[in-house]
Amino acid sequence: MTSPRRTFAIISHPDAGKTTLTEKLLVAGGAIHLAGEVKARGANRRARSDWMKIEQQRGISVTSSVMTFERDGITFNLLDTPGHEDFSEDTYRTLTAVDSAVMVIDAARGIEAQTRKLFEVCRLRSVPIITFVNKVDREGRPVFELLDEIADILALDVAPMSWPIGMGGEFEGVLDLETGGVSRPEGDSRNFQGRVDQDVTLSDRFAEEVELAQAGYAEFDGEAYRNGDLTPVYFGSALKDFGVAELIDALARHAPAPRPQPAEPAPIAPETPEVTGFVFKVQANMDPNHRDRIAFMRLCSGTFKRGMKLTPTGHGKPIAVHSPILFFAQNREVADEAFPGDIIGIPNHGTLRVGDTLSERADIRFTGLPNFAPEILRRVALKDPTKTKQLRKALDDMAEEGVTQVFYPEIGSNWIVGVVGQLQLEVLISRLEAEYKVAAGLEPAPFDTARWVTGEAADLKAFADVNRGAMAKDRDGNPVFLAKSAWEIGYVADRYPKVRFNATRER
Ligand code: GDP
Repeated sequence: MTSPRRTFAIISHPDAGKTTLTEKLLVAGGAIHLAGEVKARGANRRARSDWMKIEQQRGISVTSSVMTFERDGITFNLLDTPGHEDFSEDTYRTLTAVDSAVMVIDAARGIEAQTRKLFEVCRLRSVPIITFVNKVDREGRPVFELLDEIADILALDVAPMSWPIGMGGEFEGVLDLETGGVSRPEGDSRNFQGRVDQDVTLSDRFAEEVELAQAGYAEFDGEAYRNGDLTPVYFGSALKDFGVAELIDALARHAPAPRPQPAEPAPIAPETPEVTGFVFKVQANMDPNHRDRIAFMRLCSGTFKRGMKLTPTGHGKPIAVHSPILFFAQNREVADEAFPGDIIGIPNHGTLRVGDTLSERADIRFTGLPNFAPEILRRVALKDPTKTKQLRKALDDMAEEGVTQVFYPEIGSNWIVGVVGQLQLEVLISRLEAEYKVAAGLEPAPFDTARWVTGEAADLKAFADVNRGAMAKDRDGNPVFLAKSAWEIGYVADRYPKVRFNATRER
């Protein structure tokens, strides 16, 4: 029998403690044994960091990855989301592949900009959220204030599941509101050492706080949580290991198992016997010595077996998946079997794209993985004109990975890249040099934004004929209108009412 799956992501603002919490989750799940391993895992990870100079310079994690661990008979698949705001697109796609999320908040800072953005993405897809208020071992804001802020800003019911007894210097432990047990700090390190006191007499002040909290906030309601209307809130310290085991238990008890996934012509339930899945991420050059890439597929139904043939819907022949990869935290292992909710890495030479549906049947397509209109456009200036071919390949690869978008204008050979955030441009230039040995610079483009145009062929042609100088194709050959300003989009949209100007394109 297969064990139940919990496929989830952690969303947070940089510095709230996502890395620390991830590490503690993996330790608790027995997947790693030493502290400090999350940021540099294994030889491959190190190699990757070497060529990803930016990752080192900026000290941020540019790439997402998948970590699998097991505890009490449940398999947890943790999908790492890049924390930096410039990577919202990549992050968005990762969040399409999870069934729930853990939102980590710094107790001294509350809801921050990036937490809020990521939360909105979760809300779009009704992804249920468990909140973990971190760093209670340090001075934080009053607990009521934090809870009210979550409720107000995110428009969610909050249900406190635990309660910190003091914070910072006064911190005495975390009270489990369900069992009444208190996890205590011990010794000089004030780390949690596994001691839980059951019969605790709280000081008057805390007894009153707890009473107020229980009267004032919603009680936990599993259905409201799974609908994305209520968030259970846990307090703890990732660094000191308070509340981490409780968080895993909460995921095990309450977080949804794999759910039906939106698809055409109808959603696909995990019980569907045929194997189906979709690619939410493609990563090129995992190993700098090979030009292979890994497509990350979320399995949505069926039991995947090694060697199985899967067909990418809409293009291509069936692919035999001989060496699928499962992502256990310490190393990559070849998978023999995988189940709905699991993520499989499929090595390929560029046949698989983000958004592809892979299945044993060719008549379905998963939906909801959009491209976003870029907010910054730049012309790519090649320093060595003999490298045109390499540049085109590099731009195609990176468009495929979702690092940047690329537009090939109908007139002229000044290729244009589009990104949602500035950092993506730095990643682009750095990778062009490190991986493709192409020296290139970026110049201002005469355009400000882009729209995918759709409509009847005759209407599109009439529009394109007049605006040829602003027409381009994206990596997949779709027609794109490059606009000088948002105002211009409104202007042409008025004049060509039969043409639609789309700010997103579903793949
Ligand atoms: P990320 O950017 O969200 O991945 O955050 P990190 O896990 O790298 O943590 C940011 C900083 O906060 C680091 O210096 C951590 O040691 C610290 N930190 C994380 N969790 C806690 C905690 O529970 N208590 C305290 N005092 N510090 C923490």
